[in-house]
Amino acid sequence: MRPRKVPLRKCVACQDMKPKKELIRIVRTPAEEVQIDLTGKKAGRGAYLCGKVSCFKLAKKSKALDRALKQQVGEHIYDQLEQDFVAVEEQFIANKELISDEAE
Ligand SMILES: [Zn+2]
Repeated sequence: MRPRKVPLRKCVACQDMKPKKELIRIVRTPAEEVQIDLTGKKAGRGAYLCGKVSCFKLAKKSKALDRALKQQVGEHIYDQLEQDFVAVEEQFIANKELISDEAE
């Protein structure tokens, strides 16, 4: 059995390479809004973070999203994203389990 190739993306906070489904995409939309993109399909420049709040906190501290999105991300935007991140974390983990169940 040949191992399937899984596309890897790098978490901008901890620099780990992981399969896309284990990462949460943050997108800078064409309207220059910074949002969490759970679908992974929104238009705009994207950055990936591990699906855990600790990585978000690291990104906030090191301003990793500013660099990855090539845009200054204000403190209040990080605060808003952090709240959203906590809110989606559970959904994200549930989805991930759903996806891996389907794959088996
Ligand atoms: Zn990470």
